Amino acid sequence: MRIGVLALQGGVIEHINHLKDLDCETIEVRKPEELENLDGIILPGGESTTIGKLLKKTGLLDKLKEKIINGFPVWGTCAGMILLAKNIENDVVRHMQVMDITVKRNAYGSQINSFLIQKKINEVCTEKIPLVFIRAPYITKVNDDVHVLCKVNENIVAVRQFNMLATSFHPELTDNLQFHKYFINMCNNNYK
Ligand code: GLN
Repeated sequence: MRIGVLALQGGVIEHINHLKDLDCETIEVRKPEELENLDGIILPGGESTTIGKLLKKTGLLDKLKEKIINGFPVWGTCAGMILLAKNIENDVVRHMQVMDITVKRNAYGSQINSFLIQKKINEVCTEKIPLVFIRAPYITKVNDDVHVLCKVNENIVAVRQFNMLATSFHPELTDNLQFHKYFINMCNNNYK
């Protein structure tokens, strides 16, 4: 199993460490050639505007988008979720536009409104796991193909649409490996 982590900006090393703990080979992806021979890719948290600009500049955007449309497994955490969304409620910029979700950036307010909760997500774990929200977006609309995995106070914070997974929160910033396991399963299942 060989999983890439987009490494243009943001929380890369934390995802790499979790994947290594689960015996995955990992690659930091900075250019289009590095998308070859991967079983899936994680788009980390950070600043979606910055990562979006760098995706274009490096030529990664078009190639990655095409692969995702063809079934390449992808997981966006926080800013990564914003990069995947077809619509962003409070921004004029759009990025990869592959997932049928509408997101609201910084939906919980600023950095000081960051928070941690414990929640059981049936498809992912059998016990409560910690969910960390940092200047997080949430999802305000999904279409029929999108499966809602988790809501917090009626707001959608984790979804899956076929080969695409998106979470408002950061499992890589906790000790819990359940979400990374779930994604590795997604990568095992389909794309070659
Ligand atoms: N607020 C950031 C954005 O809009 C996302 C924050 C994060 O990834 N932790 O891009």
